[in-house]
Amino acid sequence: MRRFSMIIDGQTVDTDTHFDVVSPRDGSVVGQAPQGTPEHLDRAVAAANAAFKTWSKTPDDERRAACEQVAAKLAEHAEELAQLLTAEQGKPLNGMGSRFELGGAQAWAGHTASLSLDPKVLQDDNEGRVELHRKPIGVVGSITPWNWPLMIAIWHIVPALRTGNTVVIKPSPYTPLSTLRMVELFNEFLPRGVLNVVTCDDVTVNLGAAMSSHPGIRKMVFTGSTPTGRKVFASAAETMKRLTLELGGNDAGIVLPDADPTEIAEGLFWGAFINNGQTCAAMKRLYVHDDIYDAVCEALTDYARTVKAGPDEEAVLGPIANKMQFDKVARLIEGAKTKGRVLLGGEPGEGMYYGPTLIADLDDDDPLVTEEQFGPVLPILRYSDIDDAVARANDSENGLGGSVWSKDIEKAKEIALRLECGSAWINKHGAIQPNAPFGGVKQSGFGVEFGDEGLSEYTDIQTLLV
Ligand code: NAD
Repeated sequence: MRRFSMIIDGQTVDTDTHFDVVSPRDGSVVGQAPQGTPEHLDRAVAAANAAFKTWSKTPDDERRAACEQVAAKLAEHAEELAQLLTAEQGKPLNGMGSRFELGGAQAWAGHTASLSLDPKVLQDDNEGRVELHRKPIGVVGSITPWNWPLMIAIWHIVPALRTGNTVVIKPSPYTPLSTLRMVELFNEFLPRGVLNVVTCDDVTVNLGAAMSSHPGIRKMVFTGSTPTGRKVFASAAETMKRLTLELGGNDAGIVLPDADPTEIAEGLFWGAFINNGQTCAAMKRLYVHDDIYDAVCEALTDYARTVKAGPDEEAVLGPIANKMQFDKVARLIEGAKTKGRVLLGGEPGEGMYYGPTLIADLDDDDPLVTEEQFGPVLPILRYSDIDDAVARANDSENGLGGSVWSKDIEKAKEIALRLECGSAWINKHGAIQPNAPFGGVKQSGFGVEFGDEGLSEYTDIQTLLV
């Protein structure tokens, strides 16, 4: 069992106390993470501010090269990081598990390295010249969740560094080890202080809260639940930090009557069950037209039965990632079981395992439908009128993603554009890519990640009028 260190100002920093990181696969202790203190956070922020003086003026080509090196380091250490991620997060190595996450992190780092935000000339005539410049903001505080910890860390770190900011990252106490190791690897080539990492258990010390109000941090990028996002929003007000808040979702999928149930079953399944449903933009409610409701229920159940879930190495769905989440999912399923019709699953397995669960015929106000369940379960609901289905899909304070399933692409597009969400998909759900801006509306947060729009969130605009 290894004891990991924080990285502050390019140095490994050990602490007197540590906390255990437990594998949801078998309950074993994977390693120990440092219990950072507010003093460690102050040191990390001071180091990042000192490094900002140089990094913000480093030529664009050098910053691009550093971000390319991030992608190269991820490739070089992909297997080591994937093993660590599987051990602490529980996701399998294969399927859409840890190796897939490492591949995604690499792709995002590479694409983000290739972007840049050149100044724009908005006007140049007899009246004068107007230029728009994008400038780095300062120290970025990054807070990440436990579901896709490495990929999300890359989504925060690389655009921040690419645009000349410096970073202090704090991973979730459930999955800190892979981030600690990754930051250590990047510090082999980044100038000292440019990228720092602190950890804590959130119980004895909560550095996330301290970061959100820290006067030395100018921007927060937070990915996590809506309730914690609200706290970050409130704490950031005092120092007027720029904010990107990527929060929870309760995405709806809508199946139109012309869809082919067998053809769409696989896509529907993975749209909901990717990473065991522990994905912000996974489908969390499915509305199916009356005409094909029974056929879709049957096809989806048939497909789900073919998916290997459990502790075996070849399984493509692993355990629920931690006890808190397991209890939440189990509570929602128990409550829904007596009111709906269980098509598959519905009973916990060994340890933290819970097989894929499909529950049909629930009412719209069932907590399994109204809450973000964030686990391996999907409620299936019936509709007969498309306007009613759209209204029910939009009847949520969340607005991250949504999908429409049909052979008629034009009709599906028209319906998708009526969904109140940041990303809408046709005949797929939850697919994201580095050139397509991604973010939520309503209480799923604000600001976007990815592409030029995502990159510009790490800059302040300066207009120059000559
Ligand atoms: P969480 O809100 O419990 O924790 C997220 C992070 O916030 C962790 O690092 C945690 O240590 C930290 N934190 C705890 N208290 C804090 C405080 N008072 N101030 C600041 N930070 C604090 O979320 P989670 O359970 O780790 O992650 C699951 C949630 O994340 C789900 O709701 C999911 O939808 C959401 N999520 C959203 C996106 C997106 O892009 N929109 C992506 C992934 C996950």
